[in-house]
Amino acid sequence: MAVLVFSPGYSAPLPGHVFRPDKFRLAFDVLIREKSVTAADVAAPAKISKKDLLSVHTPAWTRKCLSGRFTAADSAAAEMKITKAVIRSHLLHAGGTVKAVQLALDGGLGINCGGGSHHARADRGAGFCLVNDLALAALKARKEAGVKKVMIVDLDVHQGDGTAAVFRGDRSVFTFSMHQADIYPEKKEKSSLDVPLPRGTGGAAYLRALRRTLPKAMDRFKPGLVIYLAGADVCRGDLLGGLALSPADLRRRETFVAGLCRDRNIPLAVTLGGGYRKAAAGAARLHAGSIKTVLKAYK
Ligand SMILES: [Zn+2]
Repeated sequence: MAVLVFSPGYSAPLPGHVFRPDKFRLAFDVLIREKSVTAADVAAPAKISKKDLLSVHTPAWTRKCLSGRFTAADSAAAEMKITKAVIRSHLLHAGGTVKAVQLALDGGLGINCGGGSHHARADRGAGFCLVNDLALAALKARKEAGVKKVMIVDLDVHQGDGTAAVFRGDRSVFTFSMHQADIYPEKKEKSSLDVPLPRGTGGAAYLRALRRTLPKAMDRFKPGLVIYLAGADVCRGDLLGGLALSPADLRRRETFVAGLCRDRNIPLAVTLGGGYRKAAAGAARLHAGSIKTVLKAYK
């Protein structure tokens, strides 16, 4: 049964941008080359309908996403030029997270080799994010698969402000965000549980903070599904983040999160999110490492 979701369309180019969408294709290439996955393990993203978009986004933003007609102000808010190719790609990423959730609900684990657009708001894009795939997939699982409670575990180095805003006051979705306190977004939202960390936090302190907070939150909330944002921008040397995890720390983190879900029989859907290195191949290696670690935890 398939476990990994990918499309070559994930990598619409953004020339000169710090966000290098080619990292998704490069990460996928690493997994195939190293035989961590075979063609039989790979599924294509689900198709995103207007109804899916409207479950999270306003009619005006949904219209823009479907027509591809954005203003200069829309691009400025998202901090990237939103071309038709870019929005097509972001819709594919969202479909990938929906598909990963379906795979998780069917077989325990689903991994999107992309996704994680946690800054996207109901009515606008922000921070390189246009469609909040995490929120969209969580709501679809609730409405169409009868999942009563969803936990979104966001370990990207940036706070999951868009997701927190979407689910403010919604007790059926628990938003957990552990992030660096002194970087984007400047104005933080209130997640169900925020764990802010100081600049320079290393692997040992990071993993301690995670062990202290996440299992307790999970056991109290008892989700029927976990959607995990495995941001790699927590690693030392990231162009946008200021934490100091090593690649081995990142793998320890993935082993821990995957183990929590596996031991509790909670379906786990993984998305990739941030990871900004000078060479896209560097970010791709970190993402591929995260995916390989989660796959191993489920073997
Ligand atoms: Zn990030």
